Amino acid sequence: MKLHHNFCKIIATIGPHTSDKKSIEKLVKAGVSIFRCNCSHGSLAEYQQRVTNIRSMEQKYNLSLGILFDLQGPKLRIGTFKKEKINLKEGNLFTLDLLPTPGDETRVCLPHPEIFNVLKPGLELLLNDGIIRLRVESCSSKEAQCTILTGGELSDKKGVNVPGVKLPISALTAKDKADLKIAEQLGADFIGLSFVQSPEDIVELRQLMKSNAQIVAKIEKPSALEHLREIIDLADAVMVARGDLGVETSPEKVPVLQKQIVSGGRRAGKPVIVATQMLESMVHNATPTRAEASDVATAVYDGVDAVMLSAETAQGKYPIEAVMTMKRIIQTVENDPRYQKGLTVFEHSASTTKEKAITIGASTVAANMDTANVIVTFTESGSTTLRAAQQRTAQIPILALTPNITTARHLTLAWGVTPIVIENLHTFDDISTEARKAVCETGLAKTGDNVVVTAGIPFGQKGSTNLLYVLKI
Ligand code: ATP
Ligand code: MG
Ligand code: MG
Repeated sequence: MKLHHNFCKIIATIGPHTSDKKSIEKLVKAGVSIFRCNCSHGSLAEYQQRVTNIRSMEQKYNLSLGILFDLQGPKLRIGTFKKEKINLKEGNLFTLDLLPTPGDETRVCLPHPEIFNVLKPGLELLLNDGIIRLRVESCSSKEAQCTILTGGELSDKKGVNVPGVKLPISALTAKDKADLKIAEQLGADFIGLSFVQSPEDIVELRQLMKSNAQIVAKIEKPSALEHLREIIDLADAVMVARGDLGVETSPEKVPVLQKQIVSGGRRAGKPVIVATQMLESMVHNATPTRAEASDVATAVYDGVDAVMLSAETAQGKYPIEAVMTMKRIIQTVENDPRYQKGLTVFEHSASTTKEKAITIGASTVAANMDTANVIVTFTESGSTTLRAAQQRTAQIPILALTPNITTARHLTLAWGVTPIVIENLHTFDDISTEARKAVCETGLAKTGDNVVVTAGIPFGQKGSTNLLYVLKI
């Protein structure tokens, strides 16, 4: 059952070559805890199959896996091409139009009529996370002729940014609302919201939601940075969505903003994800660049809850290798004594609740006892466990024992947490019995070890953690 020994979790975006049962199984074995379905790509039938495949792995390996549906938000995207990909050459002309026919080296569809009205000659368009640059030469309400300023490879549905121009589209598009419905029906654990601009966007999404899936706010807009604190408070988790963040601001700002967002999330005790281009060269190569290895390591040193793979696993040649590489980088950092020292400990105000005080206590007890190597948290909603994870007690894994399968799946995202679904507890002795069983089955403790346990009595109430004790195995 215990397949993963890393504290920082891995999220893998799945695509055409990684959605079948075999691939999903390999990804799980390689270390993926959460699967991301990008609603910008893929169809309902594909999503259904993926969810079935992922859930079947939960059964097979007796573990919980998270599923994240990522809503595309108000993002402009080109249509599709006749060939799998094309190459744009600097200096050539390239036309964006409204014709639905698949594109080629001379033109492609940009299926957003409202955009052609705000385009002007001289404006620059950035495609595929800013890799390709076009300059508008002439335009009408139906098409825009552009010169290719920076060329490169282009494939289906790549994003288009118009820096500095306010686009006339709302935060949750009609497509997003339809995708949300599908995601919830399929039992998504997390809903990613792209291009969040204000706290109201999160409120709007929450009102539309019918399930208790968690909201991941993707931070990629300058306006989101202005309201970062409120957005983090309203969301359940945050993602540093570096692709569009780097286009909407600039690449040199991304590292600084990443630190700011990570620290904001950690301070609030909300899981933080770092995403985009982490091992990008592995789309084509079996090994990463040294710079990429360093980038993943930096996120791990900063104590993020999860790192994410996008094109590497969605359309890359080496999806399994990418996950294994990521896992090795994570484990190597987590074994570095410097890692432990560098994890900032957040200060707590004196007026903290008993639940919070107990989890802080659990971490302190575990950290101060040589023989206590695990924290076991009994939880209904997951909040106790998230607080324990917020402490980032290096080298001490956290087990989350919950009767609620949804809670278990939500906790797949939390730093250091292995969620386990258990039966409802009835007697006081059940706490020790279940804790003992869990640590032994996961191999986290052996006879003679001590484990630190937190629980709440009476059972079955949210927010009732009031018990802390040391259990000898
Ligand atoms: P986002 O802004 O949400 O990150 P993206 O277009 O950058 O959107 P990613 O999820 O980052 O998409 O994935 C990177 C690339 O992998 C995509 O641009 C696309 O080419 C490919 N991809 C992702 N998911 C799929 C899918 N389900 N089917 C086909 N291709 C996919
Ligand atoms: Mg995006
Ligand atoms: Mg992306």
